[in-house]
Amino acid sequence: MIDYEHPTTTQPQGWHCPYCNWRIRLTWRRYFTEPGARKTCLHCGKQSRMNKTRSGKLWAIRVVSQVLCGAPLGIAGFFFFGPASGLGAFVLGALIGGIPIDRYMDERYRQLEPLDD
Ligand SMILES: [Zn+2]
Repeated sequence: MIDYEHPTTTQPQGWHCPYCNWRIRLTWRRYFTEPGARKTCLHCGKQSRMNKTRSGKLWAIRVVSQVLCGAPLGIAGFFFFGPASGLGAFVLGALIGGIPIDRYMDERYRQLEPLDD
């Protein structure tokens, strides 16, 4: 349960429980194991979820980053190993370029909202 931090931490960004304002930090493990999933607050035990707010500018930056990372790998893969490998390499590069930005956007621009059960 080291994913949860006390709300008095100095780091300004991050998520806060919509019920009790407890700070919830997005870790890499959490990013991969709970993509878009409900988050359970350790402090009050209530569930919340990410809202769907997205920044258009950051979305564009992410796409550019994905192409910049994916295209060289894809082209290299295409020339050295053929079309199928080129496509695979492009997808791999796009993931490498897109995931860090995607995570950053999640933590900075999306907020947790109450879950109505
Ligand atoms: Zn809470």
